Amino acid sequence: MNTQEVSASVPAEPTRLNKVLKLRILKPADDRTWGNLGALLREVRYRVYRLANLYLSEMYLGFHRHRTGDAPGWQKPNVSELNKRLLEMLGQETQKPASIRRLGASGGALFSCVTDALSQNKLRALTARTKWIDVLKGKSSLPTFRLNMAVPVRADKSQHRRLVRQPDGSVTLDLMLCPKPHPRVLLATQKIGDGAAAVLDRLLNNPSQCLDGYRQRSFEIKEDARTRKWWLYVSYDFPKAPSANLCTDIVVGVDLGFSTPIYAAISNGHARLGHRAFAALAARIRSLQRQTLVRRRSIQSGGRASVSAETARSGHGVTRKLLPTQRLQGRIDDAYTTLNHQLSRAVVDFARNHGAGVIQMENLDGLKERLSGTFLGQRWRYHQLQQFLKYKAEEVGIEVRQVSPRMTSRRCSACGHIHESFDRAARDRGADGGFKARFVCSNPKCGHTADPDYNAARNLATLDIERIIREQCVTQGISCRSLETDDDSTDPPHTVG
Ligand SMILES: [Zn+2]
Repeated sequence: MNTQEVSASVPAEPTRLNKVLKLRILKPADDRTWGNLGALLREVRYRVYRLANLYLSEMYLGFHRHRTGDAPGWQKPNVSELNKRLLEMLGQETQKPASIRRLGASGGALFSCVTDALSQNKLRALTARTKWIDVLKGKSSLPTFRLNMAVPVRADKSQHRRLVRQPDGSVTLDLMLCPKPHPRVLLATQKIGDGAAAVLDRLLNNPSQCLDGYRQRSFEIKEDARTRKWWLYVSYDFPKAPSANLCTDIVVGVDLGFSTPIYAAISNGHARLGHRAFAALAARIRSLQRQTLVRRRSIQSGGRASVSAETARSGHGVTRKLLPTQRLQGRIDDAYTTLNHQLSRAVVDFARNHGAGVIQMENLDGLKERLSGTFLGQRWRYHQLQQFLKYKAEEVGIEVRQVSPRMTSRRCSACGHIHESFDRAARDRGADGGFKARFVCSNPKCGHTADPDYNAARNLATLDIERIIREQCVTQGISCRSLETDDDSTDPPHTVG
């Protein structure tokens, strides 16, 4: 088979990428009170919820009639007609006309700016014909909206209805949910992460919505059911960086480290990233962890450290005793987040500097034990690292793939031989003192020795590594059960979702 002619019709890559920025609504920025604004938001949400579900049931009926031959064509429901009908329905059932009158004055239950935004975002997503055929066949149930749904807010062409930086530096948005004056809200921008702050700056620095910058596309607001805080979701897009100088045959492999947070290697050379690159932060995290441990032990034994440092009083309450450790835990979590930002930035820069178009990392779904003992240690931290890495990589046009970690630390990266008995976790468990066994290939023709982290990272930096390992296992007679993956060897590696 001639494999060189296969890649004839590759679909055009998207030139822009879409993402969402989440910002908390801090307070009203006009003369409204929170009570007033909250009532308005909840009322609009209730009506959006009613209208959206009305639309869905109408859509179902119409489609059913069309399929059974009762109606010649299938027409999607008319949103503004439904909006008028909803007003009548609300009029018959409403309990509090005073708060509603202000809203329902323009012919329907909702203002056209809201129905426009609704039909542009949420309802349009539901109009796929195949989806409705599945509903009719009973393959999937009729979708419904929940009361606590996200409310679409129209993003007007006028820049006044987009995110705006005020002279005092605060960021506001006029919510197009009712007639002028639109409620203006102040957004919480003080404690957002570095990544979000950078995105926000780019959005605000492009007031004319130029195509070569970051553009605000649409907004949604949603109330957090637990904290009762309202959040704004900003959908934005930005141009995908040209990836001309990146090659998808060059791969960076990222392996989880034990004494060092991560280890990265490149497929076309001997460059590596690890050990020293993140030493300072790693040391800080270890120190915080030690402090927490000492404090916890001391609390258990009722020693000095159970006295709250702030008040110098020794309370009997659990809260007073645990508060300092919780605070320490918060600092550890913050340090890990900072670390993940640094790690992801370093890996992406490393890949870019070497012209790599692909980053491969371990897919740890369903592998509980895999993280124990690693520096990151907990699932959410690895997940966070993946997320950071993914968005930073996407910005420069690098693809992030998840591959199965099976045998990646036991395969010799030089000759491909798999050493079943090599146990990385056991090797590193006592490694804090500096002892570290080397990976030694016992294949007599090879004899390759390497730092085991580098060896594993090098394996992860191999294209098609899952298939290669599977085939090697067959060759060596290693049972498929020890691989524990499905046998679907044609599956391409997953992209991080
Ligand atoms: Zn070897």
